Amino acid sequence: MDSKLEPVRDPKDLYTKIFINDEFVDSVSGRNFPTINPATGKKFCDVSEGDKEDIDKAVAAAKEAFKLGSPWRRMDASQRGRLLYKLAELFERDAKLIGSIITLEMGKPFLQAYGETVWSAGILRYYAGLADKVGGKTIPVDGDYFCYTRHEPVGVCGQIIPWNYPASMFTWKVGPALACGCTIVVKPAEQTPLSALHLAALCKEAGFPPGVVNVVPGYGPTAGAALTAHPDVDKVAFTGSTEVGKLILQAAGVANIKRTSLELGGKSPNVIMDDADLDEAVRFAHEGVMENAGQCCIAGSRTFVHEKIYDQFVAKSREMAEKRLLKTGDPFDLKTTQGPQVDEEQYKKILEMIESGKKDGAKLESGGAAVGGDGYFIKPTVFSEVTDNMRIAKEEIFGPVQQIFKFKTLDEAIERANATQYGLGAAIFTKSIDNAMMFTQGIRAGTVWVNLYNFVTPQAPFGGFKLSGLGRELGEYGMSLYQEVKTVMMKIPQKNS
Ligand code: ADP
Repeated sequence: MDSKLEPVRDPKDLYTKIFINDEFVDSVSGRNFPTINPATGKKFCDVSEGDKEDIDKAVAAAKEAFKLGSPWRRMDASQRGRLLYKLAELFERDAKLIGSIITLEMGKPFLQAYGETVWSAGILRYYAGLADKVGGKTIPVDGDYFCYTRHEPVGVCGQIIPWNYPASMFTWKVGPALACGCTIVVKPAEQTPLSALHLAALCKEAGFPPGVVNVVPGYGPTAGAALTAHPDVDKVAFTGSTEVGKLILQAAGVANIKRTSLELGGKSPNVIMDDADLDEAVRFAHEGVMENAGQCCIAGSRTFVHEKIYDQFVAKSREMAEKRLLKTGDPFDLKTTQGPQVDEEQYKKILEMIESGKKDGAKLESGGAAVGGDGYFIKPTVFSEVTDNMRIAKEEIFGPVQQIFKFKTLDEAIERANATQYGLGAAIFTKSIDNAMMFTQGIRAGTVWVNLYNFVTPQAPFGGFKLSGLGRELGEYGMSLYQEVKTVMMKIPQKNS
């Protein structure tokens, strides 16, 4: 880590306008919307508010850039890769600034926001390398025919991203889409438009042709819905709540059967067996749910602990939460590990869920309230004696709240772990290979970890079973979301025929 790593507390010259066709422009309506610093609860900036008319303009630019014969369509795949490498370099060059913007607009502690930005450059590099390695197949069909497949870019992509990982969500979406040769309209979350607009400026600087990447900030039900419903958008990629994911799937189907990929909510189980390394398991379970103030779709928010080690585990988890409280505060302070929740709505929702846990009879071990003072800070909270029918056991909380359950056998733990509408992540802590094998096979989730939690890497696919989503992002699998397969059949002329 750079020892002189200092945040930019008051960044100047922020990009605050809509980015279309390589230009920053005002919204058609002339309206703006506020960006709030969640550490203070105060507005620090106004941003142009995109709506249907702005989405129409952005989609038209993306459509034009995707035309056959355009500079982008004629560009060699290896050159697309070079542009992505360049973009990755620019991410790293500006990582302090981008990290600081993320800290300001969503409250993520600066070191984590900086780390996220550098990590996201790795996503771009991964897809830069894949750009010219997308090949079809030659298929030995019956008869005198030559058959092959072409993997073609799917077209204009609408990409709707959330606020919890603004830099990495941007790269998860644009990386594979650009590698495949698509054009893009990104709709960032209303809480985090500024980082996305800075990233848009970097796309221009990297040299992507005008119209290839467009970024329209605005609200979900207006700008987001217009993008999903647009007949000239061929594909929509969404990360966010399951509730909105259902709306998107429906609207995409009604509009034009858009290709749709969804990465949605979770209530991921983390199972700790009695033979686990206890301290490791406590640490991973704590970080797995508290990381990013609990604002993580894959948070291990249901911790199942074997009855033989239950009391010890709970005591150690309580200690960790108490230590974490000491490092909860100003997200620009390099010692801070937990910042505020993103906004007032999330903050209130989390506090209400905590109250429901108390009312339903869970035992509050630590936290359980707001920190107090300005901003949307909540104390790291631990509940023990949680049972499966409580609301805090079933609903996604998206906050720093750990629920600890007790179990007797692995079979029972697997059955209870699967008794949820979600299926994003899962983990087991054990020294037994048999336990690990039974769990990894039995669990219905898109990612299963053994003796670790929350390790996500550019090379490995990520996505959900059941209501946690549709499709897989990252890795080579992520490329297939941005391609159409075209089958070509050619008649082979025969001698003397
Ligand atoms: P969260 O509850 O975590 O804020 P959301 O699912 O509401 O998550 O938001 C994720 C993204 O989806 C944001 O960019 C938001 O603006 C957008 N969004 C919200 N509602 C809609 C909608 N009806 N259509 C399209 N996008 C939407």
